[in-house]
Amino acid sequence: MELNGCLVEPIIGLEIHLQLATRTKMFCGCALEFGAPPNTRVCPVCLGLPGALPAINRAAVELGVRTALALNCRIAEFTKWDRKSYFYPDLPKNYQISQYDLPLSLDGFFEFHVGEAIRKVRIRRAHLEEDAGKNVHELPGCTGVDLNRAGTPLLEIVTEPDLRSAEEARELAVQLHRLVRYLGVSDANMQQGQMRFEPNINCRIERGGRVIRTPIVEIKNLNSFRALHDAIVFEVERQVEAWLENGAVAEPGNKRNRGWDDERCATVAQREKEEAHEYRYFPDPDLVPVVLDQTWVAGVREHMPELPIPRTERFVSQYKVPVREAPTLVDDRATADLLDAAAELGADGVTVAKQFLGFWARLATERGGTIAGLGVDATRIAELARLVSEGQISAAAAAQIAEAMLSERGAAARPTALAEQLGLLQSSDASQIGAWVEAAFAANAQAVRDALENPRKMQAARGFLVGQVMKISGGKADPKMAGELVSQRLTQQTAGEG
Ligand code: ZN
Ligand code: MN
Repeated sequence: MELNGCLVEPIIGLEIHLQLATRTKMFCGCALEFGAPPNTRVCPVCLGLPGALPAINRAAVELGVRTALALNCRIAEFTKWDRKSYFYPDLPKNYQISQYDLPLSLDGFFEFHVGEAIRKVRIRRAHLEEDAGKNVHELPGCTGVDLNRAGTPLLEIVTEPDLRSAEEARELAVQLHRLVRYLGVSDANMQQGQMRFEPNINCRIERGGRVIRTPIVEIKNLNSFRALHDAIVFEVERQVEAWLENGAVAEPGNKRNRGWDDERCATVAQREKEEAHEYRYFPDPDLVPVVLDQTWVAGVREHMPELPIPRTERFVSQYKVPVREAPTLVDDRATADLLDAAAELGADGVTVAKQFLGFWARLATERGGTIAGLGVDATRIAELARLVSEGQISAAAAAQIAEAMLSERGAAARPTALAEQLGLLQSSDASQIGAWVEAAFAANAQAVRDALENPRKMQAARGFLVGQVMKISGGKADPKMAGELVSQRLTQQTAGEG
């Protein structure tokens, strides 16, 4: 991109902290519970009291492995725990248990859609660690510390600096969020800080034949997709301006941290980031290394659900879903599962998909939820689709029935029963449809005459007349039979004229 007369290429990598959906903390049995009264979900281990010994939460390791496998990472056979020392009120032990040189997993990649194209970003590593507590600033004149969050299991995912724009970073974040919810490894509730982003940003600038790189900045703790996007946009512009002003370029040791001020929509300078050696990483003597049995890892891999990208591809080919509209069906796993379940029950998947994208999506949006959240089971979804594909009701009638299914009265009713009650079943009674055809011909005598005089207009006239039959019948005529009867009658009249 062009900025202030410079050719600018942003270079962006992401660190993502993801809270794992375990019942208890990483190294103790305290419950994970957002919003509990301060310091009521704590014990000697997560309070860092002397002599308390941590024990590894097996479920957290499993969720970490599942995520790492979905990110195409190599799972380490031997992984250990390290102490990362720093001094801060919300860190009661004065160190965080993390993984330094032997992380849980390495060398993966993540693919995500940008428009219809697929982007691939390399994953450097994904490791387990514990979260810190929270400083609370609500009390007058002092800062409180709530340690309920201390010891919460986190997976830290680190990408290579492969991203080139704020849009790409946001897309990655949105689709990674979808992935972890698909995997069931995290609720990834952004409001509760269960997924947080820290982009590393600098710029490659070309001007007058000279190429430089600006100093790397890490923006700490962004907890919405929008903040991630806006912070990157701001930071790229700021770095270009800063370079024009002071000429500073990237050097070892001049990486800086900045925070994001949501109100001012600007990044702001923060404390200097310690170099790795200042964290004084060393192996935690209280914890045994984890040796991962490869058969066990293979078992975790076997139980992986179909992931969003392959599922999108399958929906496009199997259910003839336009790529653009696929996210409506795929993004929410329960909704995608419901579509598959209805198809497995024998409904025509293409029809179900059409109905999902049509009235089901509309009804869900009106109620502020997902299609699966409407609470209609696969059997009734399938039955409604079958009524249309078998020609018993029109497509428009199906929408009406769906609406009725969501009303109090229709909550338990079968679609077929509702179609009867509402008088929406199409007639395939030949004499009834014959009467409608007769009425359509009578009401449109001019169109019929035109068609008979000019054979080239015949096809258009036929379509028009079938439409009129459907209209007169209030959508109840079986369109196929109506079409046949209209053709028959036109042929008869042609013969009669000739
Ligand atoms: Zn505890
Ligand atoms: Mn971390």
